[in-house]
Amino acid sequence: MQQKSQSTFLVDLDIMNSHNEKGCEVCNQKFSLGDTVVMACGPWPDECIKLIHEQEAVFDDNTRTWYERTYYQSLAQS
Ligand SMILES: [Zn+2]
Repeated sequence: MQQKSQSTFLVDLDIMNSHNEKGCEVCNQKFSLGDTVVMACGPWPDECIKLIHEQEAVFDDNTRTWYERTYYQSLAQS
């Protein structure tokens, strides 16, 4: 997996094989071929960076990092 956090990915067979046991952390849907996904930071206890759908994430220009949308809003308010 590439570590360029500002990048988006298109879901391919490798991603499906490695991530579809649980699916997307945000919407709990399985990833489909061709979905646009990002490595995003979120409120997850075990791991900061998870693969989620791009539309569920916000890109923060200051940190050059994707954040899960709800998590990002909670950061902005604190
Ligand atoms: Zn999702």
